[in-house]
Amino acid sequence: MAEITIRNLRKEFGDFTAVQSSSFKIEDGEFFMLLGPSGCGKTTTLRMIAGLELPSSGEIKIDGEEVAQKPASQRDIAFVFQMFALYPHMNVRKNLSYPLVSQGMPRVQVRAKVAEVAKILGIEAILEKPIGCLSGGDRQRVALGRAIVRNPKAFMMDEPLGALDAEFREHMAVELRALHDRMGATTVYVTHDQLEAMRMGDKIVVMNRGTIEQFGKPQDIYDKPATMFVADFIGSPSMNFLRFHGNVERGTTSVKLHHQPLAIPEMREPFEGDMVFGVRPEHVRLTDSGGYRGQVKATEYLGTTQIVTLNTALGVIKARTASGQVARVGETVGLEFDGKTVTLFDNQTGRALRSDLNEGVLAHG
Ligand code: ATP
Repeated sequence: MAEITIRNLRKEFGDFTAVQSSSFKIEDGEFFMLLGPSGCGKTTTLRMIAGLELPSSGEIKIDGEEVAQKPASQRDIAFVFQMFALYPHMNVRKNLSYPLVSQGMPRVQVRAKVAEVAKILGIEAILEKPIGCLSGGDRQRVALGRAIVRNPKAFMMDEPLGALDAEFREHMAVELRALHDRMGATTVYVTHDQLEAMRMGDKIVVMNRGTIEQFGKPQDIYDKPATMFVADFIGSPSMNFLRFHGNVERGTTSVKLHHQPLAIPEMREPFEGDMVFGVRPEHVRLTDSGGYRGQVKATEYLGTTQIVTLNTALGVIKARTASGQVARVGETVGLEFDGKTVTLFDNQTGRALRSDLNEGVLAHG
């Protein structure tokens, strides 16, 4: 059981700052995702929490106790780098027993603990088998078992499914999440895969170039992005961005895009200048009548839905529609947007402007 609080955490490698100044809180029992593109500082953040990397400055509290300067061995955290890191010359039982035997635990207790963990993971039948003759899935379960057997306060996992093929990866993701739900141990999980983060996480921190772009529940991150980076990084296809110049008053509920008034959530702050109208593909409707118009450039059939790409006066838009909807390449159609789901961004800073849609969420950023 562990609640982890990070405040103003920073890491410099010489002149380079890998983590700028991160602050977030991981509740006890949460499955917590650190998400972002390669090099954004996810692994460095995880290693600092685990005690494998010393922060340049900042606080790390585990259950209220400051641990930032303490060695990993005093933090009671299991770090799962790569699920397949097992001792190949030992059988499954010995792999699971090893961390306990090296702690000096009496044999009888070790046997009982290994039996308990094997039951949780469903690997009782393979306890005497050598590692070399296990399937990928069983190896992965044993590797997890080796982390679980110590009963740590929390688990740190760095792209544990990264080396697996897509189908098996999906299967193990479900299994890992189900295991977490049974055990309830705080888990911090690094991934660059937005789908994995959305599917598995209770909360997500989205990182970019060493800074936190947004912190929140998967649905809030998807529906109410705090920045254009988040809106673009999460979702496939990503959010459409239409750039325009104008002004919005506090309380405004529409904007003019290329002379067409379009509904938006009620604005909570005034703004004047270059803005970006952000709308997700599934919130774009193709109609006969809409005043904002686009010409169909391409269609991609995806089974139940299709992605229709259109050229419009302010840029390219992708719409996700039912695959039965007819959209012929070259034809001009009307576009309607679900105004309640639109996010306006400040084009210069990339930050979302405050509106009814995202009120209360941006404060977490
Ligand atoms: P990836 O998924 O590619 O590992 P990441 O988001 O986990 O990406 P980090 O491994 O945390 O990124 O690295 C963040 C930045 O810090 C990168 O630019 C990396 O090159 C740099 N970095 C990491 N460790 C060191 C180190 N020991 N010395 C110098 N630079 C480092």
